[in-house]
Amino acid sequence: MLSTILCLAALCFSGANALSVCTANSPTFRFEFGKVKGTIVYDGPSFFSSNPFTVADSLVNDSYNSLFRESFPFEFSLNVAVFDLPEGRVMIDAGAFNSAERLPLIPGTSDAGRLVETLKSSGMHPSSIDYVLLTHGHADHVLGLIDEDGKRVFRKAEVLISKEEHMFWFADSVKLNDSVIPQPIVDQLARAYSDSVRPYLKGGKLRLVEERGCPLPSVRFIPTYGHTPFHNAIELHSEGERMVVAGDAWVSRADQLRNVEWGFVIDNEFGRAASSRRALLEEVAGSRALALSYHEQFPGVGHVTRNADGDFDWVGLNVGNLQRGARTKCDKQ
Ligand SMILES: [Zn+2]
Repeated sequence: MLSTILCLAALCFSGANALSVCTANSPTFRFEFGKVKGTIVYDGPSFFSSNPFTVADSLVNDSYNSLFRESFPFEFSLNVAVFDLPEGRVMIDAGAFNSAERLPLIPGTSDAGRLVETLKSSGMHPSSIDYVLLTHGHADHVLGLIDEDGKRVFRKAEVLISKEEHMFWFADSVKLNDSVIPQPIVDQLARAYSDSVRPYLKGGKLRLVEERGCPLPSVRFIPTYGHTPFHNAIELHSEGERMVVAGDAWVSRADQLRNVEWGFVIDNEFGRAASSRRALLEEVAGSRALALSYHEQFPGVGHVTRNADGDFDWVGLNVGNLQRGARTKCDKQ
């Protein structure tokens, strides 16, 4: 349905300022900041059949319904970013290909995993990706690294992740702190991570990033610990402009932006995740940086604003709402 709506939107706005491009499977969204061309590739939606937040259903209902969104089943998008930086073509996170097969214990369903087909039909073949940067080790961010046979999808790419985050998920035994997720599911998540990065490790294509590291001249990792033990947001610079790819520091406007303290059931540490979330949101809102929210409704590119009550809100980038430091770009169908 979403792709149909966006197809119609693209047809309506088929002039110079069209914002989205429909491919055979899924939409993409192109924009620029500084001298960098960015593309958001929709990997598809995933669903939770029940409330995934650590607050009462009624609070989640109220917040979602006030934004005309359905709260249950809870749907979240997977927005993968591709940037053409001076250092090469960089992708941030990798979607959730084949997740039903690799995560049979996870409740809910997923229609994600469209990344590779959409990249190909958008003229960005997987072999053109030079680097894949990972915000954290969760399966919905890493499973797209490998195909059905467990082989590398991005043959040329080097995969970069926080050294500590890699060591946590790659360990023989993985235990979460506050999470209410049963251990067999945690074990399955750890296996999904190991299976996804091992082919790159074997091929000499896994690079571990030190805390606050700048693995490429335009890229910096920002510690935002809590959702996972060593989750990072990723900052990109160009010509004095800046974009922050938030990963899962927050989920979306309807939940953790407007309610910073809400925990997500899979958080490793609820309190630490909320502190990291607040610090990053304050910084991004204060600096007016462009942000990418991985699980926001597609395309998930926009600006964070402050609310009078101390929480935050979201102004998504679209045709009618162009923001300083970012320009949408038309694409041919
Ligand atoms: Zn996620």
